[in-house]
Amino acid sequence: MLAARCPSCDYVYEVAAGDEHEGFAAGTAWADVPDDWCCPDCGVRDKVDFVPCAPELAAG
Ligand SMILES: [Zn+2]
Repeated sequence: MLAARCPSCDYVYEVAAGDEHEGFAAGTAWADVPDDWCCPDCGVRDKVDFVPCAPELAAG
């Protein structure tokens, strides 16, 4: 999986970009994100709720 989207707020975690604010360096695999990690934008959805998506959809 190269990217995953929060079903609640459309935040996208991209493996290639990581999320430095959350402590995930660029290239951090989705599998390495803790299962109890929750969405940094809405704080409602957990990792298990995220849905796979294509990384190009995340380009802003
Ligand atoms: Zn969210």
